[in-house]
Amino acid sequence: MKDFRCFINGAWVNAQSGETFESTDPFTAKVWARIPKCDARDVDLAVDAARRAFDTGEWSKLNATQRGHLLRKLGDLILRDADHLASTEVQDNGKLYAEMRGQVGYIPQWFYYFGGLADKVEGAVMPIDKPDMFTYTRHEPVGVVAAITPWNSPLLLLTWKLAPALAAGCTMVIKPSEFTSASTLELMRLIDEAGFSKGVVNVVTGFGADVGEAISTHSGIDKIAFTGGEASGRRIAQQASGTFKRLTLELGGKSAQLVFPDANIDNAVKGVVSGIFAATGQTCIAGSRLLVHESIHDQFLEKFVELAKTARMGDPMDMATQVGPVTTQPQYKRVLSMIEMARNEGAQAVMGGQPADRLECGDGWFIEPTVFAGVRNDMRIAQEEVFGPVLSVIKFSDDEEAYSIANDTAYGLAAGVWTSDMARAFTAAKRLRAGTVWTNTYRAVSYMMPFGGFKNSGMGRESGQEAIHDFLETKSVWLAFNKDVPNPFVMR
Ligand code: NAD
Repeated sequence: MKDFRCFINGAWVNAQSGETFESTDPFTAKVWARIPKCDARDVDLAVDAARRAFDTGEWSKLNATQRGHLLRKLGDLILRDADHLASTEVQDNGKLYAEMRGQVGYIPQWFYYFGGLADKVEGAVMPIDKPDMFTYTRHEPVGVVAAITPWNSPLLLLTWKLAPALAAGCTMVIKPSEFTSASTLELMRLIDEAGFSKGVVNVVTGFGADVGEAISTHSGIDKIAFTGGEASGRRIAQQASGTFKRLTLELGGKSAQLVFPDANIDNAVKGVVSGIFAATGQTCIAGSRLLVHESIHDQFLEKFVELAKTARMGDPMDMATQVGPVTTQPQYKRVLSMIEMARNEGAQAVMGGQPADRLECGDGWFIEPTVFAGVRNDMRIAQEEVFGPVLSVIKFSDDEEAYSIANDTAYGLAAGVWTSDMARAFTAAKRLRAGTVWTNTYRAVSYMMPFGGFKNSGMGRESGQEAIHDFLETKSVWLAFNKDVPNPFVMR
């Protein structure tokens, strides 16, 4: 059993209440760690520390080049400890070690990229219409930023907030998911070692209802960068409106993969498998609706099921495993209940549809990769996010119908297009109402590429140069050099 502590004002501390809660390994279904159960009192301490660091601390005196240097150092330390961070995430979250090794090896790129960008944020001199004025803009850090993160990719999704926020000069209070706090706390050791001064980055652990709500209503926090479910995002937006906090919301999805008759079928099969069964379907970008042209529907489905059936389930630490457990027990129950719902709606399970009762899955929360055919887009299984290994297959007869079905959802996070016709690829990229459109690939992300949602999938963008502007305020500066102050009762 491992005992973790929170990280507040540069110190490792227990919750004010002295209470803890348990974290469970999804592969063994056994408790492996105790995490401090924080409440509003701990949030107050963390916000005070972050405020002081922002307003008057050593951090506030650093220039942007020095901040960038710290970020790059942090990237190097993450690379050094990649193995440890990856295996911590596997134990706490059930993600595959093979995926985590790649992910943690790639995460430093965000710190290098935003470290490099830190001292390239430039204001502008405006060619103002008033002859006796000189005007320019400055981009200043928004202040204290709270990062609230989900359980599915804790380190990566925290990085997408941490790197641009620190590059901008903000300080941070982080609340990881109550299901997966461990990797975030391990990262704080490296924050400390890299030399970030006390209070710049703080972590409070606990539940959404107490820690999360205390954060979203706190008057000392200027911005919330949230990734999580739609309902929590809506609640946070309501609570944050009391103090007009700036908000970035990265929410859920019901992304469509469109397979046209001219697609390379073997590649499309692999791309659709990756979109829905990689990470056990627990990704916001899961391609959970397969839209396939009626002329290739049967052939595609046969090949798809043939490949999907070979997916190896089991110990996420084993490099050969391809599908790991569902991360949390409530999510395991929820996915099974949605499978039941789909059956009741008349969808036909052509593969899976039950818990994975296999020796290699031990006591873990495993669900068989599941494929429902004969789905109509107005069924709940086609409209609601499952966040698990469940694919809905829908036929279309022409391109217009494909775009119309793909866009007929409350979400707009991502879409996949499989075609060998470049004109069709450009048209689809334009017609699909989603923050990311992948053509002949899926699930690709980069520190250079903006990521975020249309519609109920959220607001704001993470990654890419524009992400840093979500952590900055624009200040307009006016200098008058006329000798006489003109009529004070008339607008200038
Ligand atoms: P969740 O919304 O239940 O929890 C996310 C975080 O919000 C947790 O830290 C939780 O404690 C906190 N929280 C919950 N209620 C809160 C409240 N009232 N006030 C403040 N904080 C609160 O989501 P989850 O189950 O951890 O993650 C799965 C969801 O995240 C899915 O819907 C998925 O699509 C979404 N997601 C989106 C992206 C993206 O980039 N768009 C990426 C990954 C996951």
